[in-house]
Amino acid sequence: MNNIKEIEVKNIISKSNLLAYDYAVNPYIGCLHGCKYCYASFMKKFTGHSEEWGEFVDVKFWNPIKIFKKYNKKSIFIGSVTDPYQPIELRYERTKAFLEEIKDFDINVNISTKSDLILRDLNLIKQFKNINVSWSINTLDEDFRKEMDNAVSIERRISCMKTFYDEKIKTTCFISPIFPGITDVIAIIKKCRYCCNTIWLEKLNLRDDFKLKILNYITNYYPHLYNLYKEIYIDNKVDYWKKLDKEIKDFCDREKLLYVKDNNVFDRDFCNNPIVVNYFYHDDIKDTK
Ligand code: SF4
Repeated sequence: MNNIKEIEVKNIISKSNLLAYDYAVNPYIGCLHGCKYCYASFMKKFTGHSEEWGEFVDVKFWNPIKIFKKYNKKSIFIGSVTDPYQPIELRYERTKAFLEEIKDFDINVNISTKSDLILRDLNLIKQFKNINVSWSINTLDEDFRKEMDNAVSIERRISCMKTFYDEKIKTTCFISPIFPGITDVIAIIKKCRYCCNTIWLEKLNLRDDFKLKILNYITNYYPHLYNLYKEIYIDNKVDYWKKLDKEIKDFCDREKLLYVKDNNVFDRDFCNNPIVVNYFYHDDIKDTK
């Protein structure tokens, strides 16, 4: 039984700690997609929830945004610690309400989701000057997907991404998180390259209580990979990521896809050949910033 609660907050926009974005917006606390690897589960600590991650949502209601000048030409990431189009959005429409509130302003917006409910807001999203929508896809194996999250199928995500792409809205296939030995990055790039403008790559990071959860899962379901996971997540070796980085680079060179380590989606116009962006090292960059 999920615990849904309505709450009032003063401000819906907060400073972002993501490198490429100035502000973050999360219309909900918690997420019914309940991904096993969700780094946002740390939110439980700050919000006093004792339920399991994925079993509660606080629905935010906020005061109208007053000073739009402050956000002029700034970038906003919608969905940094929740999925703004998780199923509860169908009933509460808080993400839609936020988009309605900011649509006439000169703000760069990225929406990140694993859902196709966003199709409902296609016409609204088309009114934005500079907007990008990213769908997380870290496998083409539906059984593995079902083990990891309660969101819609990969086919539905790709189909939704294609609809947006065909409407000339900038789209990203976010290959995240990459599970060593399980996520076939090149197969996903091949499958999605004609329906997105950028492909982001992010590795699986394990920390807090989900580190143990994932390592137990690997021990039980992929025992042949346990040593690899131990090497990466207990011994902190980076050889796997370096090798994968090179394999993807070689693939991109052969396929004439631009492969870079950093990118601002808002600097680029809609283009047909996707740019592949490797964020494997953005934690290191953040640390040294
Ligand atoms: S969809 Fe995103 S925010 Fe929601 S549980 Fe999964 S990783 Fe966390």
